[in-house]
Amino acid sequence: LTERLQNAIAGLRRKGKVTDADLRETMREIRLALLEADVNFDVVKTFIKTVRERATGAKVLEGLNPAQQIVKIVDEELTKMMGEEATPLNKSAKIPTVIMMSGLQGAGKTTTVGKLALKLKNEENARPLLIAADIYRPAAIDQLEKLGDDMKIPVFSLGTDVNPREIVKQGLALAHEQHNDYVFIDTAGRLQIDQDLMNELADIKDIAQPDEILLVIDAMTGQNAVQTAEGFDERLNVTGVVLTKLDGDTRGGAALSIRAVTGKPIKFVGQGEKMNDLDVFYPDRMSSRILGMGDMLTLIEKAQKDFDEKQAEEQIKKMRENTFDFNDFLEQLQQVQNMGPIEDMLKMIPGMANNPALKNINVNPKDMEHIKAIVYSMTPAERQNPDLLNPSRRRRLASGAGRPIVEVNRMIKQFNEMKKMMNGLMNGKVSPQMQGMMD
Ligand code: GDP
Ligand code: MG
Repeated sequence: LTERLQNAIAGLRRKGKVTDADLRETMREIRLALLEADVNFDVVKTFIKTVRERATGAKVLEGLNPAQQIVKIVDEELTKMMGEEATPLNKSAKIPTVIMMSGLQGAGKTTTVGKLALKLKNEENARPLLIAADIYRPAAIDQLEKLGDDMKIPVFSLGTDVNPREIVKQGLALAHEQHNDYVFIDTAGRLQIDQDLMNELADIKDIAQPDEILLVIDAMTGQNAVQTAEGFDERLNVTGVVLTKLDGDTRGGAALSIRAVTGKPIKFVGQGEKMNDLDVFYPDRMSSRILGMGDMLTLIEKAQKDFDEKQAEEQIKKMRENTFDFNDFLEQLQQVQNMGPIEDMLKMIPGMANNPALKNINVNPKDMEHIKAIVYSMTPAERQNPDLLNPSRRRRLASGAGRPIVEVNRMIKQFNEMKKMMNGLMNGKVSPQMQGMMD
């Protein structure tokens, strides 16, 4: 997966500039990457459309490193689609806060009850009560009781012979009596969604009036996660999702799909079987994971560096040949704004890296836009041949750029001095007058 995307990015980098065809190609690769990460097909389609719309905008096409910008957009949109921020647990104004679990068998409901209860106990000094309402597998009650024992958290159970609705009623009554601040209702699951299960869960919901209905979904189930989530949400109107087993080799595309299809926030992620393997869900981190962004960012950085170096080499060549013109100047300014500052570029000239004169080079970003505006007002001929810029042409520039004439004059003077200085540098000379110009 990552390789695909990396290839796409590397392809773009070689060209330096994005064409519509490049964009199409990249979007195709990103689409494949997302599908490989188990993101739902329809979700991918919508997502690609959103990204393409944003990426075809002028900014991306104009940028010096379009690849980086596209990935940035993809990352931003993924994060946005997953809710941007972490979503906390719903809490009731008066105790107890009732949290009901739901999900297929084996998804991790019981384990998550343990993890969450422990987390609240540790972080808030909470006193939760766990209700064992899965009566269909004897081992399920034992499992919860064992967890409770280990964590010193009480578990309410009436065995396997009492109806789960009754268990919940009595459990809640006990929690009120004992002033527990949280109640967890551990429910049964099935291998597939069926009506019996849904009816039981709906009844429990009516009885318990939970503040939070957490849907627990196994991230490893990939494409199936969406139907499961839809099925449960339709009937129960869940309030949050817990995505488990992210410690496996899944890419976590289910997170994006579930959020996109149900609109329900993912609140926690399970990252292992142990009781402290539960984390708050952060959309931006999940986005990186889905994209394999860690690797990609490294690649982008390298791409950026290569590109900077190539640019710098070209400019240095021009300085050496004394053909540095306003087009180069503009490019330089853009480079300064986008990435590598001019001093970094100059430092790449052999023997310049430690030159004290370079310490003072500094282009004020505030003035940058004005300078650019003036250069943009020049004709191509003027940019190539700054000597053409006589007073009347300068006046035209001033009014074209909406800047005072003195500023135009100052800018051209600086340009000429810079050019002279650069030429000087090429010959290994650093004159003192350069200092004044650069501070
Ligand atoms: P339930 O049927 O929904 O209650 O599922 P359980 O809580 O009994 O979990 C089923 C299995 O999945 C157990 O073996 C758990 O240890 C395991 N499990 C639950 N959450 C995670 C997780 O985040 N990571 C891993 N690796 N295993 C998990
Ligand atoms: Mg269970």
